[in-house]
Amino acid sequence: MSLRRDAILREMGLAPVWRLRGRQAQPEPEPVLQPAAPTPASGPAQGRVRSDLRDGAGDLPQPVSTRSHTDVGDGVMGLGWDALEARIGGCEACGLCRRRKQAVPGVGDRQADWLFVGEGPGAEEDERGEPFVGQAGRLLDAMLASIDLKRGEDVYIANAVKCRPPNNRTPEAAELAACFPYLQRQIALIQPRLIVALGRPAAQALLNEEVRIAAARGKLHSHGGIPVVVTYHPAYLLRNLQDKAKAWDDLCFARRSMRGLKHA
Ligand code: URA
Repeated sequence: MSLRRDAILREMGLAPVWRLRGRQAQPEPEPVLQPAAPTPASGPAQGRVRSDLRDGAGDLPQPVSTRSHTDVGDGVMGLGWDALEARIGGCEACGLCRRRKQAVPGVGDRQADWLFVGEGPGAEEDERGEPFVGQAGRLLDAMLASIDLKRGEDVYIANAVKCRPPNNRTPEAAELAACFPYLQRQIALIQPRLIVALGRPAAQALLNEEVRIAAARGKLHSHGGIPVVVTYHPAYLLRNLQDKAKAWDDLCFARRSMRGLKHA
């Protein structure tokens, strides 16, 4: 193992797993695109995103919201990057705008093959205007590095909601639905080859259905025809170290899937 790789995996808490398994995380079957739940081009999580979204696997199904997001959606799909970011910066479509310091649209390569989608900004992100710059962000950077990716280089990072939920609570269904057109527009502009959903809110928003991370891992899902890989959120991994190895498996799966897409 190279020193750099060793350091990355130590940071992820995965060096022992690497040594046990060897360089390839697992045998490499060709990933197959899951027949996806229909993801309407015009709307996602519209009325389908749960309000008790947690990253763990054991939550019980909850009723879904029926709120529409069209007040934000109108006109967003025609926007270019500058206008989109300005619109996000001034958005008042849900209550999250009241306590934000600033909205956090996203960061990275606007023509990236890889799109990583998190949940929503935390305190440091709210302060700095960039996603994943706190402790979870440091782990995300290590996760990216573990599959030879780097923030900003062929990677775009965004969140399911663009404003910080108070006390870092999970975004509510209505907030996710209200914000979804922005993510959808980002996806349309970037046209990523593959999306990695970090945690349950992002996965549910993208897949427009109830998701349990444990069940959704290891499969290629689809958002409007773009393959989606689901894994644990870095903040969840910081609290649940035992699942880091699974997250690494998911990243290796995503990397294999990307290779398959490029060679298809
Ligand atoms: N968690 C997220 O989901 N997004 C961020 O930007 C930071 C922490």
